[in-house]
Amino acid sequence: MSTVVLVTGGSGLVGKAIQDVAAEENREDVKWYFATSKDADLRDVNQTRRLFEKVQPTHVIHLAAKVGGLFDNMNNNLDFLRENIQINDNVLQTAYEHKCKKVVSCLSTCIFPDRTTYPIDETMLHDGPPHPSNYGYSYAKRLVDVQNHAYNQKYGCNFTSIIPCNIFGPNDNYRPVVSHVIPGMIYRMHQLINSQETDLPEEEKVFTVYGSGKPLRQFIYSLDLARLMVWVMWNYDSVEPIILSVDEKDEVTIADAAREVAKAFKFKGKLEFDTSKADGQYKKTASNKKLRAFLPGFKFTDFSEAVESSVRWFVDNYEVARK
Ligand code: NAP
Ligand code: GDP
Repeated sequence: MSTVVLVTGGSGLVGKAIQDVAAEENREDVKWYFATSKDADLRDVNQTRRLFEKVQPTHVIHLAAKVGGLFDNMNNNLDFLRENIQINDNVLQTAYEHKCKKVVSCLSTCIFPDRTTYPIDETMLHDGPPHPSNYGYSYAKRLVDVQNHAYNQKYGCNFTSIIPCNIFGPNDNYRPVVSHVIPGMIYRMHQLINSQETDLPEEEKVFTVYGSGKPLRQFIYSLDLARLMVWVMWNYDSVEPIILSVDEKDEVTIADAAREVAKAFKFKGKLEFDTSKADGQYKKTASNKKLRAFLPGFKFTDFSEAVESSVRWFVDNYEVARK
């Protein structure tokens, strides 16, 4: 029987990066199917079943989710909770019914307990409440780990999960209010630089970073994450989650990230910080020790280079970008 990998959320930031990695791998013995919400609304169990019947996957990389940045989460906790519970329950149960050999689902470092010790590791997922800003998304995602264990206990299923830090790259979601910090800043800086509403020279333009700029984040380039996820798909056989993050030393502040975006745009104006806007979780520093034990030599793309490539992608693909 040939290997058929169904990637749910195949049109998103991570899904598009996995398309690139699958093309790089170019394995004749593996067929990939990248599903979008047009193939099936995975909140609906019948549509989910029809998708699995059509694709007949042996393996699933499960990315599809209701995803958003801090401000979207703060305003919509109920929707993040319900939609993600529905999607995850439908995908895992249908993968079990189809006897899929492996499912790799995607959690996030933002679902770890808010009050904790650092660095955070995989064993601490359920040790306390998540940050109140995104408790809906967090509890829905934590349940994936609970379900993976339950499917393993009852049926011996090889269902696992990865826990990435903040992700960015080409094909991100740039929609204002919904977007995460890097695509959000890329979109807003592009608007500011190209705005026709003012005849101010660029040197006098001011870019507003939301919040104090002090929170700390680990950012992974989507292409690096895609390579690691595909590695997990073929090589990691444990129900226990694995953190896929850059090293702790590469954590940066939101202000650092804003400066990198400005540098990539060659923005000549100034940055200001709007402290009336929320900062969210101060930090969620995660340890990649478990990953490093498997792949000690994995080289993450340099943050500056990755931001530059992401900005270039947005400028070159402005008409088609999700905004
Ligand atoms: P994204 O760019 O927003 O893409 C979301 C994908 O999910 C799209 O392909 C979308 O399809 C699909 N989708 C959404 N709702 C669906 C539904 N009801 N039925 C079927 N498909 C649906 O998200 P991403 O950033 O690539 O995220 C991928 C995974 O990484 C998610 O599980 C997310 O929770 C996790 N994650 C993301 C980050 C981050 O910083 N972005 C950080 C940690 C973890 P359409 O294109 O058709 O709408
Ligand atoms: P988080 O990492 O889960 O908190 O989600 P985000 O990717 O949305 O990052 C939120 C952090 O970036 C907070 O400290 C925000 O105050 C800050 N931030 C600065 N500018 C922006 C922006 O344009 N969009 C978003 N989403 N956050 C921003």
